[in-house]
Amino acid sequence: MQFAKRFEKIPPYLFAEIDRKRDELVAKGVDIINMGVGDPDQPTPSHIVEAMHQAIDDPSTHNYPPYQGTKEYRQAAANWMESRFGVKGLDPNTQVVSSIGSKEAIHNTFLAFVESGDYTLIPDPGYPVYRTSTIFAGGEPYTMPLTPENNFLPDLDAIPEEVARKAKLLWVNYPNNPTGALASLGDFEKLVAFCQKYDILLCHDHAYSEMAYDGYKPPSVLEVPGALDVAIEFHSFSKSYNMTGWRIGFVAGNTTGIKGLGQVKTNIDSGVFKAIQRAGIAAFATSSANLQQVMSVYQRRRDIIVEGLKSLGWPIEPPKATLYVWVPVPSGYTSTEFVSLLLDKCGIIVPPGNGYGAAGEGFFRIALTVADERMHEAIKRMKAAGIRYA
Ligand SMILES: *Cc1c(COP(=O)(O)O)cnc(C)c1O
Repeated sequence: MQFAKRFEKIPPYLFAEIDRKRDELVAKGVDIINMGVGDPDQPTPSHIVEAMHQAIDDPSTHNYPPYQGTKEYRQAAANWMESRFGVKGLDPNTQVVSSIGSKEAIHNTFLAFVESGDYTLIPDPGYPVYRTSTIFAGGEPYTMPLTPENNFLPDLDAIPEEVARKAKLLWVNYPNNPTGALASLGDFEKLVAFCQKYDILLCHDHAYSEMAYDGYKPPSVLEVPGALDVAIEFHSFSKSYNMTGWRIGFVAGNTTGIKGLGQVKTNIDSGVFKAIQRAGIAAFATSSANLQQVMSVYQRRRDIIVEGLKSLGWPIEPPKATLYVWVPVPSGYTSTEFVSLLLDKCGIIVPPGNGYGAAGEGFFRIALTVADERMHEAIKRMKAAGIRYA
């Protein structure tokens, strides 16, 4: 038997490789500090778990859910978009669809809009699915480098006219994984204008919309006037509410975008378990005090890591959002060499920046998903191994 040819173009999923390495070392008895994958280690807030308990006891949640999400869930999502971002009047029937977590919806959006010969404009470094799903759909990924010089924002002027005209989708993600970078409403305005000019569906992956610190509130691309002409936004409970295992999110925005995605999904999946949608409705109602409590754990860890790295000579500022710290590797090392050194000398697992695209070379990513004392231990091991930035 032979795999489909499309697999030849697809690199192994970054974390599949990292997990394999971890298992090898754990089997050897190494005490690993795994700051690799962005999977929250904290429990889902209890009011959400409680809503699920109740919903699962109600037999009316047990049959097939509507493909596009229950009416109550879509309405709750539309209401939340208004209360959280001031995005008014989204039609839950045509401008909102439920998703089985964002990853699924991201992939299926490519299937809905990209044909062979089409370009997709994707960030580099970026969430690996944008590239692989372009390839699955037969398209050509065109990467937009995110560098410190441009504040990790795409340089739209650098995209050749020829490519822009053949592009179907433009992907961005702010607050950004892996760089922790932010985009302002002004940055979103430029993206909307560009996509209007070239008739491109602007896809904003908002996986970290609630995962912000120091009072920062990430904006929605749909706040930009005219955004509904060109943009859809992918929301997920996974990161902000410690719900990666639940597999639920929603996509909101442009009706054609939602319709295309919905049509693919109708043919591929059968929706989200209705009990989980009820838990999602409870998640929308999370109080800001409760959310603050969830975030304070990550904020404390962020500060431990940033202070620790500073004490080892790193020039680094605490990110205002996301689960990640994007850290430059010391000179004389490639990303891959440096993360290997951290693994071999310190038992620390972190992904190399180039795992997220060529422009991520020179960096590595730390996920804030281990307890305070493990973070202190990681810094201690680096110090003991004589690892410094300069
Ligand atoms: C984690 C992550 C996702 C996937 O989220 P799920 O809702 O769990 O599928 C999508 N995009 C980015 C940028 C992420 O970091």
